[in-house]
Amino acid sequence: MAKKVVLSIAAHGDDAEFFAGGTLAKMADDGHDVYLVIATHNDRGSFRLSPGELRACAQPEAEASAAALGAQGVFMLGYVDGDLGDEKQSVLRGKIMRLIRELRADIIFCWDPFAPFEDHPDHRAVAWAASDAATFAHFPLYHPEHLTDGLKPYRVTERYWYSKAGWQTNRLVDISDYMDKKLAALYGYHCQMVLTVDDFVQAARATGVDESKLATIDALKFKPYIQTAMHARNGALGAQMGTVYAEAFRYEREEAPNFLHGTAE
Ligand SMILES: [Zn+2]
Repeated sequence: MAKKVVLSIAAHGDDAEFFAGGTLAKMADDGHDVYLVIATHNDRGSFRLSPGELRACAQPEAEASAAALGAQGVFMLGYVDGDLGDEKQSVLRGKIMRLIRELRADIIFCWDPFAPFEDHPDHRAVAWAASDAATFAHFPLYHPEHLTDGLKPYRVTERYWYSKAGWQTNRLVDISDYMDKKLAALYGYHCQMVLTVDDFVQAARATGVDESKLATIDALKFKPYIQTAMHARNGALGAQMGTVYAEAFRYEREEAPNFLHGTAE
C-alpha cells in the first residue's frame, strides 16, 4: 500500500487511544505518517486536579502518548474541555481543514458524526467538524484564506469513525500485535487514566457495588484496570474476526465513479 498520511482528530487526549490506538500504531508501523489533533485540554477531566493543573499536563501527556504510537506529531487546538460545542462550527471546521490541507491527509479518524446516543458534547462537536472538513477540504472556495496562505485543496479518501456498537461496525482491524503500544499510549495520559478509574469506582459505588470490593482500588495505580478493560473490549472484538485483539470502526472510502468501471448508461 502506498504511503498515506493519517490524521486522527479527537476531542480529548485518550479518545483516539481508547478507540483506535492499536490501529494508529499499526498504520505508523506500516510506514504511514500518523498525526494527532486534540481539540481540548482535558481541563475538566479530573476529580482531583484543578483546571490549571490539567492544562499544564495536557501537552506533555499528548506528546508522550503520540511517541508511544509512533506518531509524527500532535496538534493541540486548546479549547476548554466540555465547551467545544460553543465554538462556531465553521471556525472549528476551518481549523481541522487547514490541518488536512497542510498535512495532505488521506485518511482521518474521529468520533462518528452519525452515531446516536453520544452523550459528550465535545465528541459530537469534533465529529461534525471533522466530517465537514474532510468532505470539503478539496473544495477551493471553502476557507479560501488557506489558499492565500499557500495551501492547496486536498481530498480525504478514507474515514475511520469509532464504533461503539456492533450494528455500526463495518470494519474490524486486527491489533493483536499492537496492544502493547495501545496500552503504552493510554498510560501516557496519566491524568486521564486516573480519571477513568476514579469514574469507574464512583459509578460502581452509585450503582450499589459492595464497598469492600472498591476499597482496594487505587486509581493512581491504574495500569491493571486499564489493561483489563482493554483486553476485555478489544478481545471481544478480536473474537469476532478470529484474532486476539481488534478495534471496530464504521469505515467509509471514496469509490471511483461507476463510469470508470464501464457500468454507466
Ligand atoms: Zn473524549
